[in-house]
Amino acid sequence: MRPEALNSLFVEVDALDGVGPKLRRPLEKLGLTRIRDLAYHLPDRFVERRAVENLDDAGVGENIIVALTVREHRASAGRGPFRVIAEDVAGNICTLTYFGRASYTARKLLPVGETRWIAGRLDQYGQMLQIVHPEHVAQSRQALHGQLCEAVYPLSEGLTQGRVSGLVQQALKVLPEMPEWIEPGLLGKMKWPVWREALLAAHKGVNGPARDRLAYDELLANALALMLVRESNRAQSGTPLAGDGSLRAKLRLPFELTGAQKRSIGEIEGDVAQKSPMLRLLQGDVGSGKTVVALSSMLIAVEAGAQAALLAPTEILARQHHETLSRMAQGTGVEIALLTGRDKGKARESILMGLIDGSIDIVVGTHAIFQDTVSYKNLALVVIDEQHRFGVGQRLMLARKGRRTPHTLAMTATPIPRTLTLAQYGEMEVSRLDELPPGRQAIDTRVVSVERMDDVVGAIVRHLETGQQAYWVCPMVRESESDDLAAAEARYASLKERFGEDVVLVHGQLKPEAKDAAMERFASGEAKVLVATTVIEVGVDVPNATLMVIEQAERFGLAQLHQLRGRVGRGSEKSTCLLLRGQQLSETARQRLALMRETQDGFRLAEEDLELRGGGELLGTRQSGDTPFRLATLEQIQKLLPLAHDDARLLIERDGGLSGARGEAARLLLYLFERDWGVQLLRGG
Ligand code: ADP
Ligand code: MG
Repeated sequence: MRPEALNSLFVEVDALDGVGPKLRRPLEKLGLTRIRDLAYHLPDRFVERRAVENLDDAGVGENIIVALTVREHRASAGRGPFRVIAEDVAGNICTLTYFGRASYTARKLLPVGETRWIAGRLDQYGQMLQIVHPEHVAQSRQALHGQLCEAVYPLSEGLTQGRVSGLVQQALKVLPEMPEWIEPGLLGKMKWPVWREALLAAHKGVNGPARDRLAYDELLANALALMLVRESNRAQSGTPLAGDGSLRAKLRLPFELTGAQKRSIGEIEGDVAQKSPMLRLLQGDVGSGKTVVALSSMLIAVEAGAQAALLAPTEILARQHHETLSRMAQGTGVEIALLTGRDKGKARESILMGLIDGSIDIVVGTHAIFQDTVSYKNLALVVIDEQHRFGVGQRLMLARKGRRTPHTLAMTATPIPRTLTLAQYGEMEVSRLDELPPGRQAIDTRVVSVERMDDVVGAIVRHLETGQQAYWVCPMVRESESDDLAAAEARYASLKERFGEDVVLVHGQLKPEAKDAAMERFASGEAKVLVATTVIEVGVDVPNATLMVIEQAERFGLAQLHQLRGRVGRGSEKSTCLLLRGQQLSETARQRLALMRETQDGFRLAEEDLELRGGGELLGTRQSGDTPFRLATLEQIQKLLPLAHDDARLLIERDGGLSGARGEAARLLLYLFERDWGVQLLRGG
């Protein structure tokens, strides 16, 4: 149960003035559904304005606040702008220019003969001074007082700055006081404000210490929760699994295991033989052969007379895992079932029975496998295919069913720098598959300007003639989702003109059935080109697809590009990856693409990407998806995470179940950042 002290923060945004069903959707898009979210919706930047007596004091291009008296309204014929001719106290003439429907408001706000305070950017148009679409018009100077330094918030379609900032202000008005959860010594040393002050300050202007404090809170919540999971895991009892190797011996693999695979399986075997449940991360680049490690681990459980489960992030992946595992395990006599949310009726019933009576040894599925209606005879090992990088802890909790805690193996294909490993997984044990299976060919990677589109299409034509297939990836970045989708659809349409029915399109907004059908056509070789937004990042194994085109490659993170590229180079044929770049490229973007050309080592790419972006990050420009954090930037993670980590450990070790006053406060923190899956693990909590 969430502590009462936080209730006001978790009230839905609907409760605020002016929020109706129409606003709800765009707010949701930004993740703003509760008061808390609005309070934490920090500005990207601030516009600084200067109040001036008259326009002689202002420079062109400057953001100003000035009093102007309206002389004349001038409507243009046709589609031209609506102009308001105004004059300052010194007699300078300035035109206020409005396009489109804004003219209605302008007429009302700026009656002829009246004086108004205007906030906006002063421009010059020929000889004329002008302000295009003034940002604020007010009757008094006081009304614009708050606009001398105005926050600029991240928006989504259907929202305006005014709207968002109004809602944020409402949210900030109801902020409660919070007890302090940060160690007093640290708070003093850093000169950080208390929680409420920090939030207020972060919305008011550029404020390093306030931002740092808020980021630290987030890092501390995460570190605490992960540590609680780990601690409690240590205290739990699991089932010691001693496999005799009989099933693993029956695996007919067409290859020798690599040294890294053998080592990892050995580490896992050692862990699961213990009474305390395993908590291990298997980190291995795309194509490093995690599947066989997962299967071997699960076979250990089955050899020991227990069951194992593999949790996949999507249905498509669950299906693929099920197929691959079943194929590999042929001849072992092991029963492997697939269970997803889509299974209904008889089929589902029979799987549920098999899990209860133990006739199913291994189940593969989406989180449907952990629903309350699903019981196991003896589930002793859970493998989590962690493509989503987030919420490992949460998923770990999901897997806790029954009296005994299963051993857990989390798998990730995202090579992340070591600092971020700690941030995302806490102090988990790590096995790294740092050696690729032999015989892999380097993927020929090239950076091509988008102006050479015709050549690229020509390359695809020649490629398809050899009987091989190709991927075409379009970016899908949250800020302008609808534009991105439109671009992907337009690309699909133009390729379709050229290649006809050979092209299929897959994106996140398709119905699962339609998506599966398209994937299926591509996987079977019927379709030759798969146009996709980044959904193909997760899974998909089509060895005959040996060409990948990535559009607007500069918009992707390196880790993401790397994962995408890993979809080719899976068969025996030589593979190619074409990174299409825009005409305008920043120096960093150029370096990052060059790095892609230079190396295929995911860990190196991850480290260097962090290096390249780390310091250069602008205030608030977070690359969503790279870290599990909403507030903390990469720079803050590097600077503050070690502190948060130590602090979390002290709190737990010294304070046991977080029982003291600071412990109580820390509990609030966990709820505030919705890491409350950690709270249930507190002794007596
Ligand atoms: P990951 O899941 O780590 O991306 P997979 O488990 O899908 O990688 O393995 C990628 C490909 O490599 C598969 O086709 C698999 O059969 C093959 N493979 C795995 N281990 C080896 C090995 N030791 N030698 C040769 N090929 C291997
Ligand atoms: Mg895999």
